[in-house]
Amino acid sequence: MSEQWMRPSLKGLSLYYNPEIEEKVRMDTSTNLLGANPVAEEVLEDCKKMDLNQYPRPYSDDLRKALADFYSLSLDHFVAGNGSDEILDIIFKSFMDYGERIVMPYPTYSLHDYFVRINGGTWELVDLDQDYQLRVDEMLDTEGKMLILCTPNNPTANSFRKGDVERLVREWEGPVVVDEAYGEFSECSFIPLVDEYRNLIVTRTFSKAYGLAGMRIGYSVAHPDLTSIMLRVRIPYSLDRVSERMAIAALKNRDYVEEIVSVVNRERDRLKEGLEFMGFHTYPSSTNFMMARSPVPSGELTSRLEEKGVLIRDFGDKRGLENCVRTTIGTPELNSLLLEKIEEVLSEWE
Ligand SMILES: *Cc1c(COP(=O)(O)O)cnc(C)c1O
Repeated sequence: MSEQWMRPSLKGLSLYYNPEIEEKVRMDTSTNLLGANPVAEEVLEDCKKMDLNQYPRPYSDDLRKALADFYSLSLDHFVAGNGSDEILDIIFKSFMDYGERIVMPYPTYSLHDYFVRINGGTWELVDLDQDYQLRVDEMLDTEGKMLILCTPNNPTANSFRKGDVERLVREWEGPVVVDEAYGEFSECSFIPLVDEYRNLIVTRTFSKAYGLAGMRIGYSVAHPDLTSIMLRVRIPYSLDRVSERMAIAALKNRDYVEEIVSVVNRERDRLKEGLEFMGFHTYPSSTNFMMARSPVPSGELTSRLEEKGVLIRDFGDKRGLENCVRTTIGTPELNSLLLEKIEEVLSEWE
């Protein structure tokens, strides 16, 4: 009955991925598998003395200042928010009007079109080529207000060629969003170009390499002209005081981020070989997750793994990703556990 009151553009909208996670090993969300950032405990202890009766600063200026120092930019290049998901939502609210069209590659992060949709926009997908690289000319030839992509790309795990992304930014006439949720794992970042290209918005998160997904902290880096528009759209106070304090501390703890990057770089080939040995086809990864094509139906594989206590993500129902799964690359122990459980599942297959 109430469905009829729903905005027509939302018809068919479903809930986001929401698995049973009790007691499961989570290799499904590409977080830092070293365990929570060690700054978390110290900061939480410290926060006990915080006056939680007071609002945070409306625009999280302490964190913006810390980010400005970190990147040698000024505070007015940054918007901080409740996860980079909130930042993506702010971007569409700021620059996309009802009915306007957004251009994005396919496959890409599933929440990009979700945020376009809940904000009343439409989108046009331009398929990646067979190496999962951007078709730059086709993207530039597609009508639209904005362009959005992520590199390294989720779920394919490869990075796009730097020159391709830069050409899109240079030649596209509206805002271009480069989602760098996995930027810490990659050598290439577009953040140094935000002053040169005044249509470029880079987003980053504390959820992946920084190991603070539960705190919900993300940010954008863009020219102050774009940033000032986004700040006006952002819900004041959206980032709570505890999260802000934790992000500032995490930014200083370089060891933890460097550790996960080196663990992932050491483990990637071993996981790849283990999967290939069992008949998977793996795809190149430049981040902390890997996409692989399963030798057995992927939906069945992931649900049997789930019964054995390990979660990885099934992408098999997506066009062009038939029987593909995505797994986080973790510590040696976790990767061995995953390989062992897959081996069990395959040996029990009838
Ligand atoms: C995980 C992820 C995000 C979301 O990050 P949060 O900061 O946790 O909201 C954004 N983009 C991509 C591509 C991601 O994989």
